[in-house]
Amino acid sequence: MSDFRFPRGFRRQIRTLPVAPGISQDFSGIEARRYTWLPMTYQHEPARVRPDGALSAKMSGLARRDTKPEMELRRVLHRRGLRFRVQLKVPGNRRRTIDIAFTRARLAVYVDGCFWHGCPDHHHLPRTNSEWWQWKVELIRRRDASTDAELRSAGWEVLRFWEHTNPEDAASAVVRTYEARVRDAASTSSGPR
Ligand SMILES: [Zn+2]
Repeated sequence: MSDFRFPRGFRRQIRTLPVAPGISQDFSGIEARRYTWLPMTYQHEPARVRPDGALSAKMSGLARRDTKPEMELRRVLHRRGLRFRVQLKVPGNRRRTIDIAFTRARLAVYVDGCFWHGCPDHHHLPRTNSEWWQWKVELIRRRDASTDAELRSAGWEVLRFWEHTNPEDAASAVVRTYEARVRDAASTSSGPR
């Protein structure tokens, strides 16, 4: 393990690794992902050739926010009357954020890029450094899964959509979950009288 190097910024992010593997799951007929199993092909960071300009540009996209599919979903949700916070810190983990957060309902919504998060339909490994990219995507998926686990243990529900998901469909799933959670919270907090 002594030669194991994380990319900058990743060192602490895999602190809590979920053991079980990730699959897609239907959620109310709309595609929302829930991790249950996560394969990790490489135990060590594979070697890679020095990134060229194009690759570096892609790398810098990792930290990007306000992506087009996410903005689109936010627009639809807003139009349907929902109000939310964006880029809210994950409770108890200030290094991670929630794309779209409904604090009262404790509902976290993510729009995951097909490339970075390894969409089964649209992710293709770059020909250069393909082993490294596979390792990278698996690492990102593990980070996603551990974020989900942290949120759920704090009482939040998590919905993850691929960027290719129709925003209207995703919004419908969000609205359904949001309303159910607000309803549940109201009935629990009012209690028996
Ligand atoms: Zn996709």
